[in-house]
Amino acid sequence: MLRLSDKITRIPVSAPLKVDLAAKAKVAAGADVVNFCVGEPDFPTPDNAAVGGIEAIKKGRTKYTNASGSPELKAAAADALLRDYGVSYSPDCIVITTGAKYAVYAVVNALCNPGDEVIIPAPYWTSYEHLTSLSGAAPVIVTCKKENGFKLTPEQFEEAATERTRALIINNPNNPSGAVYSAKELKEIGEIAVKHNICIISDEIYADLVFDGIKFVSTAAVSESIKENTVIINGMSKSFAMTGWRIGYIAAPRNVAAAVSAMLSHTTGAPCTISQDASVVALNGPRDGVKQMREVFRERRDLAYSSAQALGIDCPKPQGAFYLMMDIRKYLKPGETATDFALDLLDYSSVALVPCEDFGMPGFLRMSFSVSTETVAEGFRRMGIYLKERRGING
Ligand code: PLP
Repeated sequence: MLRLSDKITRIPVSAPLKVDLAAKAKVAAGADVVNFCVGEPDFPTPDNAAVGGIEAIKKGRTKYTNASGSPELKAAAADALLRDYGVSYSPDCIVITTGAKYAVYAVVNALCNPGDEVIIPAPYWTSYEHLTSLSGAAPVIVTCKKENGFKLTPEQFEEAATERTRALIINNPNNPSGAVYSAKELKEIGEIAVKHNICIISDEIYADLVFDGIKFVSTAAVSESIKENTVIINGMSKSFAMTGWRIGYIAAPRNVAAAVSAMLSHTTGAPCTISQDASVVALNGPRDGVKQMREVFRERRDLAYSSAQALGIDCPKPQGAFYLMMDIRKYLKPGETATDFALDLLDYSSVALVPCEDFGMPGFLRMSFSVSTETVAEGFRRMGIYLKERRGING
């Protein structure tokens, strides 16, 4: 048998994958599974973007672009950042990547030497921890508290920062909690980052999906000095429902952008040219589709949150993104994990939820409400029966 690297064998089989595999097996066996695991909008790619992609093929725009992205897409991303979030970047500070996930990986690689530390507030999107380990840096997990809205406080950041800290990864709005940071919170965190010369990797991929009139604030918009210590991550996957097109981008200080470009030139190379052209059209076009999608997600958020409340399930009210993070610790038997619970729920009621052990939140489950309203309602109906019949709880 061929030998594998230590760093890859250290990555555990993910808990969400276990549930996903079990859910797929049930579906294959003919069960009617209500699946709340998906992490992508259930909306089609906007027509104008799709046409942009078709035009790219017709025009023969099917060759390599610069490894760091086409000039047209860098300009469109820079314009969008200014128009939508009020942050100004010159196109040479923008780098286009093959998805936002790879953008985070490339930035961590650009910033960290082996053994350097990356602070990751929990709850966090599961890939941050593993992509940090893969890069050779050390993830430092800081658990955020319910009373702080599951957000990192300046005190926690200060306490976790060491000589070796090179980066902090903030996800705003957050997957899985739906928490959104205010300008004041970002300023307090940003000032600490500036003081210690720590880079804030600000993953803003859900920036357009913020509810209740809350204004999204980009970390880079808070002050010029904080902007100089920030790398914005964004992309086409969530706002434009273009997950499969694989386009992400970073906006960064010039030296970081240059380092990431160099890394891309030797790893992924340029992202797909057709996807880049489609993204130019989407970014330069109207935002009506995004607005409609946000309104639909807001309605589903309301339904999911009130249904959870009605069953007595404790969860923060998501202010953004499309996930509900449910605290199920009071239902767990001694020694039982959220994964055990999720597998039992799937087995008994055919409802699939993501256990949050890999999001740094043992005892919690994540529901994605990127499914129809009827599906949300049906899922909670089944969960109500499950809690009553399997856990002895009357909702
Ligand atoms: N960042 C966060 C917080 C996400 O939840 C996801 C996808 O689920 C991504 C990045 C990945 O985006 P992409 O599809 O562009 O790689």
